[in-house]
Amino acid sequence: TEQTQEWLQNYVDDWVAFYRKHTSDGEVASYIPILKEANKDHLGISILGKNGMAIRSGDVGIPFTIQSISKVISFIVACMERGVGYMLDRVDVEPTGEAFNSIMHLEMKKPEKPFNPLVNAGAITVTSMLEGRTSDEKLEPIFHLLEHILGYRPALNVDVYESERDSSMRNRAIGYYLLEIGFLESDLNITLETYFKQCSIEVTVDDLARIGMIIANDGEDPDSKEEIIPRQVTRIAKALMLTCGMYDASGKFATYVGIPAKSGVSGGIIAIAPPRVREEELPFINGCGIGVYGPALDDKGNSIAGIRLLRHIAKQWDLSIF
Ligand code: GLU
Repeated sequence: TEQTQEWLQNYVDDWVAFYRKHTSDGEVASYIPILKEANKDHLGISILGKNGMAIRSGDVGIPFTIQSISKVISFIVACMERGVGYMLDRVDVEPTGEAFNSIMHLEMKKPEKPFNPLVNAGAITVTSMLEGRTSDEKLEPIFHLLEHILGYRPALNVDVYESERDSSMRNRAIGYYLLEIGFLESDLNITLETYFKQCSIEVTVDDLARIGMIIANDGEDPDSKEEIIPRQVTRIAKALMLTCGMYDASGKFATYVGIPAKSGVSGGIIAIAPPRVREEELPFINGCGIGVYGPALDDKGNSIAGIRLLRHIAKQWDLSIF
């Protein structure tokens, strides 16, 4: 009922006000120069569910670049283009326990395929598998899927793209290494251009929540019942988010929050409330998507206040899938 939604809204407003103070414990990302311009104090959350259920609180209207959260989308699109079997033959699904941009573990362990699609080496490999000859051709199905889900075509933030392109020594190093060991399926420069652009797509917390809601409902729009992403693909995406989505703090996030999520260095987090949780007490929360934005990051690269806010909500609403 409306009353319940208002009741939940009041709680979330209190929690956001409380955790906003925690933003001062973190730092905005600086290795991509333009990301330094973000406002460290920002914290916003959007929770969207079926029948128009919506709870929004804090700094919700601010656009930010999707960054690593795009790795979930590019993996989904690549699976839709190539098939799940093709992708799993070429990219593994194991967490690394290393930093997202680590190159060392690839060289030391000499795996037969990159460890998983949510760290940079795996994501760049996935991007090389997208269909199309140019970066714009490769990106088109990503934009198309986002447009299908969001109802509008998100923009590419050209300043962020150029800032990353011109400062991306590490990703270029990873790219050359992937090229040397034969993992890439497209030209290196086109692959990197595509990867930097996919990271520079601009979204809001509402957009992340809406994407999350579709993934939460196994790829189906819970209102229109239209299948947007094949169920099998969303299953794998959720497993990857749970095991590898929060950098090398994924184990802690699974333990203390317990829901599939993916973060990015701009301070965004997409999270998924499983459809079955507490059917009687909190029907609104079932199958919700959650989008969070808080650019102050902890030492693992996750939104510091965002993680604490999600942990609190998951505890209060018993969201853990375990
Ligand atoms: N574009 C960023 C990079 O590859 C994304 C990193 C992230 O969000 O974790 O360095």
